[in-house]
Amino acid sequence: MTDSALRLVWIYPDLLSTYGDRGNVLVVERRAKQRGLQVERIDVRSDQAVPTSGDIYLIGGGEDRPQRLAGERLRQDPGLGRAVENGAIVFAVCAGYQILGHEFIDDRGERTAGLGLLDVWSTRGEGKRNVGDIVAEPDPRLGVPTLTGFENHQGITHLGQGVSPLAQVSVGGGNGTGDGTEGAWRDTVFGTYLHGPIMARNPLVADLLIKLALDVSALPPADNTWYDALRAERIAAAQATA
Ligand code: GLN
Repeated sequence: MTDSALRLVWIYPDLLSTYGDRGNVLVVERRAKQRGLQVERIDVRSDQAVPTSGDIYLIGGGEDRPQRLAGERLRQDPGLGRAVENGAIVFAVCAGYQILGHEFIDDRGERTAGLGLLDVWSTRGEGKRNVGDIVAEPDPRLGVPTLTGFENHQGITHLGQGVSPLAQVSVGGGNGTGDGTEGAWRDTVFGTYLHGPIMARNPLVADLLIKLALDVSALPPADNTWYDALRAERIAAAQATA
């Protein structure tokens, strides 16, 4: 972060925001403001250029056709790649996660090149969609508690050597490769299959992004009572239906 306001960029609200992923923007903004930070929110529609000066970029999920269009437009725009080179943080969900990888495949079997910002690639699952509650234990290096969320995807995401799994699933499909991994991350770039939205279910993920943006190891405490109760409830519900 170079000046007083945290610049929070929401990429393509017109194409990528299923299952309440917009809530991720609201929660990151709120958690930052609760810590006394000023937030400048920049919504970038798909006919606009992605600014390179953001601190945190959020991307949501989407149906196959909007996803493909979003992937094509983002590939024509060097903005996000330049921002990552400058150390920006990117957090992408489901379709957005697949777009960050090398390629993904839509419902017609057509392949679309991704941005290559994460060393992952997505194929299409032959079986039923991964739909339902998901519970996953995050990479301990991230310092966040058990993740809960909701997934709905046909894509299967394969991880290359250049990334680590974001988490290991205890309930749900995650990356869908059968190895129990969920999501992927490297340095400041993160991808996950968790909707919910993930930040509302797991506000310490929002705090993680803010800490990375500020380059600090801790933030002033925030009240997590409601979130902790929600996590306990969702873990119990997921286990009951698993
Ligand atoms: N269209 C993608 C899939 O089905 C992503 C879906 C989503 O973002 N929920 O795999």
